[in-house]
Amino acid sequence: MINKETYDKMKELIAEYENNEQLDNSKKPYIYEHSVEVKRTYNPEYGDDKICECGHPYYRHFDSYEDMEACGCKYCSCYDFQPRTKKIYGMIHLSGPDTFQKALDEIKIYEEEGLYGFILENYHGTIDDVIEVLDYLKDNPSTIQVGINILPNEYERCFALCKEYEFISFIQLDYVSGNYINTEPIDRKVLIDKLFDYGIYHVKILGGVWPKYYRPVEGSDLKTDILNGLIRDTTCIVVTGEGTGSETPIEKIKQFREILDSDYQGEDTQLIVGAGLTPLNVREQLTIADGGIVGSTFKPNGRTHQMVDRNLVRVFMEEFRKIK
Ligand SMILES: [Zn+2]
Ligand SMILES: [Zn+2]
Repeated sequence: MINKETYDKMKELIAEYENNEQLDNSKKPYIYEHSVEVKRTYNPEYGDDKICECGHPYYRHFDSYEDMEACGCKYCSCYDFQPRTKKIYGMIHLSGPDTFQKALDEIKIYEEEGLYGFILENYHGTIDDVIEVLDYLKDNPSTIQVGINILPNEYERCFALCKEYEFISFIQLDYVSGNYINTEPIDRKVLIDKLFDYGIYHVKILGGVWPKYYRPVEGSDLKTDILNGLIRDTTCIVVTGEGTGSETPIEKIKQFREILDSDYQGEDTQLIVGAGLTPLNVREQLTIADGGIVGSTFKPNGRTHQMVDRNLVRVFMEEFRKIK
């Protein structure tokens, strides 16, 4: 702790140094050394139940046996408590012409308009287009979070890219669990093992359950599929409606939220609305959910081939910021 006495002494020393660059210590009886100790301690007024980005409550970041020492999260490897905030992720659809330059311009808009991150997706473009942008970002880091989605649900490809480009902080999977008609089922164990093999512990997963364009096979149970989708503490479950650009029904969002909350085990899983957010519904939907992925709403007339329009982003973000 710096008290007035230490502060004055430091000021004195600095003044002394400034006045005389060539201090001759040999004539002094003592050499004084001053050290500053910075201590991080528990703040009882902060709010024990506030949730960290890691998904665990504030008080869990302190050791109750050691005088509430700031020891890092008891449940995971998170060291610094960071209060969780609602997040908007913007899509980069990689359409031509000038795919590369367009992507860079769109990233710039997202950075400047205060989005949390963006997702590079081979929606109109190719995996090579994704890689070209990643190569650029390696030397020119973005100021916001970088994520990828390699269609169709190519999770292993995503893991490999995350290993190669360590700045990628999250990946989106169209579906992380569940069985769907005409779709190869995802094996939870294989997925977890692969994730472990690649050693990409810092990467967050945004995983869809019962997503747009996929019909669950008969006998599917939403709760089972959602809980199976929680492959890591930091997994975010993505809920969508019928398709790109169409609104996610509020009832579906509430249903997902209830299931996630009912399984509360010291963890607080984030729910992301993955489609159909607009300035008109963002306040209602993200009061319930923790974040949203926005694509076509940022494009003129919702046309995904078009370039992201800064004004559309701005109008949306203004509404989003009104959420308490
Ligand atoms: Zn934490
Ligand atoms: Zn934690």
